[in-house]
Amino acid sequence: MATKQEGGEQQKQDGRHQEVGHKSLLQSDALYQYILETSVYPREPPCMKELRDITAKHPWNIMTTSADEGQFLNMLLKLINAKNTMEIGVYTGYSLLATALALPEDGKILAMDINRENYELGLPVIQKAGVAHKIDFREGPALPVLDQMLEDKTTHGSFDFIFVDADKDNYLNYHKRLIDLVKVGGLIGYDNTLWSGSVVAPPDAPLRKYVRYYLDFVLELNKALAADPRIEICQLPIGDGVTLCRRIS
Ligand code: SAM
Ligand code: CA
Repeated sequence: MATKQEGGEQQKQDGRHQEVGHKSLLQSDALYQYILETSVYPREPPCMKELRDITAKHPWNIMTTSADEGQFLNMLLKLINAKNTMEIGVYTGYSLLATALALPEDGKILAMDINRENYELGLPVIQKAGVAHKIDFREGPALPVLDQMLEDKTTHGSFDFIFVDADKDNYLNYHKRLIDLVKVGGLIGYDNTLWSGSVVAPPDAPLRKYVRYYLDFVLELNKALAADPRIEICQLPIGDGVTLCRRIS
């Protein structure tokens, strides 16, 4: 297994994708650099670059969404005219800012993370970009918030887009709830569904501990999504793999 995401050790060992946020399952570093330098960085809004630079100095920077995935999310949200959205797993806010910039002035993002400190690291940039008013940040685990929302029938089918990028062992628990909160025709995006490429690792592969721990959850999620008749799916090899689920019933 040659690539790495959301963990630094392998990255150091094999010397690939050294810069922060350079996450790709592409087999050629040169090709990935080409994409970033030709199509992504020249079009990255200055505020997103600033947030990426701030995040680069943070010890957990490997968790950030990559610039090419940020660009993808931004365009996707515009394409579907998203207005009411949700994000589970904010960290310093790179995907959140990509989302906020794509939404109309009266767009909304319900953003959840157990860690407010990291969100506050990026918040000044989000404020300066003039999009903070779109964000309703809730500190704490996401599941109880979802359960509370489900008690109120008016929130059912109300989200145009939901991005899930948090605790992988809860993705199926999220899915059980999110399927009722996203609107028919709306999208849920599950991030890291190729899990550093470990989804095809042989049983004796030397995986980092946390990759090994979450692997079965990711495998189970991928199977469950593929078998779920309520959604259409598309698994994209951008970043660490993102699976888009379009609710159809
Ligand atoms: N989307 C972010 C970005 O673009 O930088 C990256 C998110 S990072 C990979 C995962 C985040 O999920 C961490 O900030 C972590 O604190 C958060 N998290 C972990 N468990 C959570 C939970 N139960 N509920 C909400 N957030 C959680
Ligand atoms: Ca991620």
